This record gives sequence, C-alpha cells and structure tokens, in this order.
Amino acid sequence: MRMRKKSWAEPFLKENPDFVIEKPEVRAGRWHELLGCTRLRVEIGSGKGDYFTKMAAMNTEEGWIGIEKEHNVAAVAVKKALAQPHEHMAFIAQDADQISTWFAPGEIDVIHLNFSDPWPKSGYAKRRLSHARFLKQYETLLNENGQVIMKTDNPKLFEFSLTEFSKENWLLCEVSVDFRRLPHPEDAITEYEQKFMDLGQPIYRAVWQKKA
Ligand code: SAM
Repeated sequence: MRMRKKSWAEPFLKENPDFVIEKPEVRAGRWHELLGCTRLRVEIGSGKGDYFTKMAAMNTEEGWIGIEKEHNVAAVAVKKALAQPHEHMAFIAQDADQISTWFAPGEIDVIHLNFSDPWPKSGYAKRRLSHARFLKQYETLLNENGQVIMKTDNPKLFEFSLTEFSKENWLLCEVSVDFRRLPHPEDAITEYEQKFMDLGQPIYRAVWQKKA
C-alpha cells in the first residue's frame, strides 16, 4: 500500500516504543505474557490497520500483533490502535522477511493475510506472503493447531496460494470463492475488502492448518 509521505509518521512511530516494538526478537517467547493472553494472532501486511484494530476490539481476550513495512501506512494503523483499549495489542513496523526471529516456535495461533500484494510478475513471486519461503517460517511459528487465514480479491494469487500450501503439505480446512455472499459478523472487513465489495467483486478466502 503506497501513500503520500507523512512527515509525522517516523517521529510518531518512534514516540510509541511500548506499542511499536523496535526489537521484536527480544520479545520472542514472551508475547503471551507481555500481552496478557493465551491465544496470539498476527496480521502480516496490516495496511492502515482496519482489520487488526477491529478484530482486536471484538476479541479482547486474545493478543493481536499487526505487521506493516511501509511506515506512512503503519503510522495510520498505530494511530487507530492507540485510540482504543490496546493493552493486548502491539505493532511491528518492519518487513516480515525476518518474522521467524520475532517469535518463538509454536508461539502463534493464527496468522492472517488480508489482501496481500499479489506481485503478479513471476520474477517477484518470492515476495508473495504465501510463497513457500514464508510458509516454512509460518509452520515453525504456529502451534500444533495453528492456522493461516487468507482473504484476497485476486484469483491468481489465490490459485498460487492454494498450490503453494498444498505443495508444502498444509491441510486445507476451509475454502470460499465468495466469502461475503453470506454475512460474517465475526470477521472484520478491511479497507481493501470494502472497496472490492462495493465493486461487486467476490472475496476469496481459505484457512489452512499446518501438517501434523
Ligand atoms: N491488509 C490491508 C487491507 O486489507 O486493507 C492492506 C492490504 S495492502 C494491498 C498490502 C499491505 O501489505 C501493504 O500495506 C504492504 O506494505 C504490506 N506488506 C507487503 N509485504 C509485506 C511484508 N513483507 N512485510 C510487511 N508488510 C508487507
């Protein structure tokens, strides 16, 4: 998600070190204790933070961590989060490339990928958040019943992801090619999602569980 540069973004992120965690690797293995939760959910590519903030407000007993690499966008997400009760939340404004160093093995319950960048050119496939190089990291970080939940508007990214998870032997638990056809009040609508819904485009969704 690209946005015009915000002069306040960098200082704002630095002004909130208790919430925007600069060295997440120091917290690996302690996230549950630090966020006061027994379940931990992580959204990678939070954008302006709609999903992460709404879901955290609906599920205050769970820990929620948003990850977003673009600081202009991350600052908007953090501002939203700080405007609501956020003791059970944290934010990492960095590239998820390093995610395997930020959490201990088995520490995460659910990883959410919402409207991830599709990187349509095959030369950039490795940057897709559902590429095998990320799936291998997710597999280590999720607990034994851990899940990855993906939503996208992009059929090619969805197809790529289904193939990639299958090649890595993940179990496909749920799949929908028109998720919003039925009401799902338990699942918040992201900013991107609302745009596609307004255009009448279907939302693709899948849930995978890591192999036993
Ligand atoms: N999830 C939001 C939504 O549904 O409204 C934002 C979707 S936007 C298309 C994808 C976001 O993922 C962008 O803001 C981008 O910067 C972020 N992103 C992509 N790759 C990332 C990575 N490796 N680490 C952290 N953020 C990433």
